[in-house]
Amino acid sequence: MSEQIVKVINCRRCGQDHLVEFKGLLNPFDDFNIWSICPKTNQPLLLKAEFVVCNQR
Ligand SMILES: [Zn+2]
Repeated sequence: MSEQIVKVINCRRCGQDHLVEFKGLLNPFDDFNIWSICPKTNQPLLLKAEFVVCNQR
């Protein structure tokens, strides 16, 4: 499971745009399958991988 840098637009936690490193979520129970921590609030963020826009590595 690779990590990837994702540009989060209108972050669900802080409402800002920022780059964060996302990791694959184990045993996803819905459409959200990658996760990270919002750097502004230190709260968890979940995303759908098809929204990933840049810099897969
Ligand atoms: Zn945020």
